[in-house]
Amino acid sequence: MQVFKFGGASVKDATAVRNVGEIVKRFGKEKLLVVISAMGKTTNALERLTTSYFKQTGETKKLFDEIKQYHDNIIKDLISDIHPHGFDDIENTFIELECLISGTPEGSFDFHYDQIVSFGEIICTKIVSIYLNQTNIRNRWVDARNFVHTDTSHREGKIDWNKTKQIIHSKLKPLVEKQIIITQGFIGNSPNNNTTTLGREGSDYSAAIFAYALEATSLTIWKDVAGVLNADPKRFKDTMKIDALNYNEAIELAYYGATVIHPKTIQPLQSKNIPLYVKSFVAPEEEGTTVSSSPHDLIKMPVYIVKSGQTLVSISSKDFSFIVEENLSKIFEVFAKHAIKTNLMQNSAISFSACVNTDDENLQKLQDALSLQFNIRINKGCELFTARNVRSIQQVEYVKDKIILLEQRTRSSIQLVIQ
Ligand code: ASP
Ligand code: MG
Repeated sequence: MQVFKFGGASVKDATAVRNVGEIVKRFGKEKLLVVISAMGKTTNALERLTTSYFKQTGETKKLFDEIKQYHDNIIKDLISDIHPHGFDDIENTFIELECLISGTPEGSFDFHYDQIVSFGEIICTKIVSIYLNQTNIRNRWVDARNFVHTDTSHREGKIDWNKTKQIIHSKLKPLVEKQIIITQGFIGNSPNNNTTTLGREGSDYSAAIFAYALEATSLTIWKDVAGVLNADPKRFKDTMKIDALNYNEAIELAYYGATVIHPKTIQPLQSKNIPLYVKSFVAPEEEGTTVSSSPHDLIKMPVYIVKSGQTLVSISSKDFSFIVEENLSKIFEVFAKHAIKTNLMQNSAISFSACVNTDDENLQKLQDALSLQFNIRINKGCELFTARNVRSIQQVEYVKDKIILLEQRTRSSIQLVIQ
């Protein structure tokens, strides 16, 4: 049993959807479950729609129309190959979305976000499923929310592994035995029966959840790049593809900001020893990158990763006390309370620094909570630069003209917070 995952770029227009059909036909050799995210940049558009609806800015209808128009154009183009009817279900789904954004919002932003933004995945998978069926790639559309169960944390649903595993095994596996299954990434269901989402770019994670619970033979993530590269080609010259890497290396690369794989994807696969193939949907016959448990596949080439949108928070005590256990536990408590994600930490006797991902609102809450007891310095607009398998970064162009705010070395990596 294979699992395939297609992201937004692979279904961004009608030509791309046709290509997905070709790939499913040519490479879907075993029983197959296909996980797909929203088309193109639809999730960003739906985020804007949610904000407009929540703040009642008066732009809601226009934003809705743009999203509908974008999908209608893709459908119209696909219809040149297939029957025009069969898309009524999608019309109804848009009506449902329109109803949802017509009222006045009550409750939290994050709740509404999940109810609205999830439509991107629902609509996309319906279009792809209808198209594939009409081009004789027989498949069944299923709603991922019947299978992926989370807690009630909106926009960052935590998986209820027992429930999810059990229901996928008992209810979905028999369906995959019979025919190709098309389902959504990114979305889940809360115990109150409300839609949740798993965090931006979470479809890779969904695919790994399905692969894990189905005990799949492999997961293939189809991307617009040749595989996992040793650096981002938008920032670095002469990048190279990594042919093979092991799970732990892949986790580290993804964690430090290699955007090609969502960081949460690897561990479920690792626990069942399911290989992950990252392949190009543009050149599907090419090898791509294999992520597996093979101990021989240690990467030897230098790897450079840049994570942008970082803030450096530097904290020192006001009462001349050292930054040791007591102070650290207070600091960590505040970080956890405001969901501030730490990517790098360093501490000395008198200070603690952390490179974090957070928005202004939570940063303010952090300052409010700590400023009585501590001096806090904030540097926004930083980048976390990670180099692996190198002795020195003196020759690395990218960091040459940057200000280094913090540096940390381990046996396998050099990390800098730069501005
Ligand atoms: N559509 C969602 C997003 O753009 C999930 C995903 O693409 O993985 O974040
Ligand atoms: Mg997407």
